[in-house]
Amino acid sequence: VPDSADAVLDGLDPEQREVATALRGPVCVLAGAGTGKTRAITHRIAYGVRAGILQPTTVLAVTFTNRAAGEMRGRLRQLGAVGVQARTFHSAALRQLQYFWPKAIGGAMPRLVDRKIQLVADAAAACRVRLDRGELRDVTAEIEWSKVTQTVPADYALAAAKAGRETPRDPAEIAQLYSAYEELKRGRGVIDFEDVLLLTVAVLQDRPDVAQQVRAQYQHFVVDEYQDVSPLQQRLLDLWLGDRDDLCVVGDASQTIYSFTGATPDHLLDFRLRHPGATVVKLVRDYRSTPQVVHLANGLLAQARGRAADHRLELVSQRPAGPEPVYTEYTDEPAEAEGAARRIRELVDSGVPPAEIAVLFRTNSQSEIYEQALADAGVPYQLRGAERFFDRPEVRKAGTALRAAARFGGNDALLDDTVDLPSQVRAVLSGEGWTTEPPAGSGAVRERWESLAALVHLAQDFAAAKPDATLGDLVAELDERAGAQHAPTVQGVTLASLHSAKGLEWDVVFLVGLAEGMMPITYAKTDEQIEEERRLLYVGVTRARERLHLSWALARSPGGRAGRRPSRFLDGLRPGSAGAAGGRLAAGGAGGVERGSSGRSALAPAPRRTQRAPARCRVCGRSLTDAGEMKLMRCEGCPSDMDEGVYERLLAWRAV
Ligand code: ATP
Ligand code: MG
Repeated sequence: VPDSADAVLDGLDPEQREVATALRGPVCVLAGAGTGKTRAITHRIAYGVRAGILQPTTVLAVTFTNRAAGEMRGRLRQLGAVGVQARTFHSAALRQLQYFWPKAIGGAMPRLVDRKIQLVADAAAACRVRLDRGELRDVTAEIEWSKVTQTVPADYALAAAKAGRETPRDPAEIAQLYSAYEELKRGRGVIDFEDVLLLTVAVLQDRPDVAQQVRAQYQHFVVDEYQDVSPLQQRLLDLWLGDRDDLCVVGDASQTIYSFTGATPDHLLDFRLRHPGATVVKLVRDYRSTPQVVHLANGLLAQARGRAADHRLELVSQRPAGPEPVYTEYTDEPAEAEGAARRIRELVDSGVPPAEIAVLFRTNSQSEIYEQALADAGVPYQLRGAERFFDRPEVRKAGTALRAAARFGGNDALLDDTVDLPSQVRAVLSGEGWTTEPPAGSGAVRERWESLAALVHLAQDFAAAKPDATLGDLVAELDERAGAQHAPTVQGVTLASLHSAKGLEWDVVFLVGLAEGMMPITYAKTDEQIEEERRLLYVGVTRARERLHLSWALARSPGGRAGRRPSRFLDGLRPGSAGAAGGRLAAGGAGGVERGSSGRSALAPAPRRTQRAPARCRVCGRSLTDAGEMKLMRCEGCPSDMDEGVYERLLAWRAV
């Protein structure tokens, strides 16, 4: 913990300091990836609190995902600022709504609907409209989009046409279903995920007394990833502020990747128009990535077009030189996955911690093949999006066992309080069938093991930070994290979609599936959609600190037609394409093409693939068995109580 407010400013560059010390009035930070935007706002809050200028409980920091919120809370604690609220828009709204519901609306807050698709199906039945499963899903997505963009049923047709949405049914019919869905929901006394924001907005609008109370509580607002704010979130922010302007936003228009859900960088780019007196700071020094990675990121942006691109800032790396990005072309997708898994295995064997490696892909349907390849190579991995860690049955069970042990002492090892905390936790979990070494194979067994391993790691980190902590303290920490749905970081390789990798960073990043059709994705057709795909790749590239591996496959399956070509976004950048400089085409077959099964290395013992990796819910990561859910790749109950980021990712997935 820094010993003074001024010490909080150490480790910031002059522009970041300007952000951190501009504690009054509107502040807007426009800057590229890795320039320390998140760091600057975190230090700004800590500096304000430590200097006694900001009252911690009056600060509300809004981030994009629960994970980002959890990380910010952790950083703030390390900087000696406690009591600051760091939340997603959704969780902040949910909390306020719960609190004000009895007073503003009366009674207790209704339950969140847990089978939304079923509700839409019921609405369709009431309207005598027959929808197949795919249509049902698409209609649900249209209803969600309408709500996020504050479009009422009567305006749907016009708004959808204006936004260029491909409507799954006749717009008038969708409007009718939307309306019936709302009615049914009201009739059953439940609310949905979008209602949480809509109702909070409505309460703040209609009840000046409530608005006044909220405004008295929160006086300083900080918003990260502001380029992806939706109109509904902006409305909420405006209501929180009232006529005040103590607001600090940071964003990068070049990282706008959620426009298809209604988000727009216009709020960021027009900030100065709305707040004429705003302090505007630009950051260009990139602290995250090597010059080689930054060079590629700048190269990608140089080809970008559109409003976001007009505001791009060339990044300047502050880090020492590192390896050139490695580009690899594979004959087919399984060979690509095995090739990546083999390289990862080599990295891990050479001492790179798995937690410092990520594999990022365009759509979550690509994850399965990488899960399998990593499991075959004996590398631990974790899927991003598995936010609901504490709801997993094995974690709940372990929590019960730990709680009992903390209260009554469990076995001999525990009665001895000379045994360190992680060993105590291991002892309790062993009683639950946990083993120190991972079980063979992948699938549900492995998944359960990883969850419990994450608890052991959490105990280790906790004990390292607080050497005197008891099992009881650990249980209290777990309860707190469970309440905030703040899952511990699993120490495996991260598998994540590009959408969910936003704001995060790893030493080594594998960007896979960079073939035309995947990147850009086939359904991206308009110029704007293509530009959004390019930005998505930019987000991916800028996640890497040190090493970047880019790969694509010419065919989908072994022996399949090799009709694919590398992503157009890499033209002029990858070696071998006209005008390219830098980068390295990996060895591995003629012309850099790794050949089918020869891609398997001796390092990865090759068990015959007898069973497919289990289908998983893309939101909570649980294995799925229900055929309908497998088609959706999601538990039907999932969207109702997710954070904003997860919800928007869900839409991204569903669009695929
Ligand atoms: P993104 O656009 O991807 O969200 P960002 O602009 O929010 O990126 P940060 O995540 O805040 O960037 O910072 C990127 C990395 O650079 C982090 O590891 C951070 O600790 C480091 N960093 C930022 N500023 C500095 C600095 N002044 N000195 C040293 N390291 C820094
Ligand atoms: Mg950031």
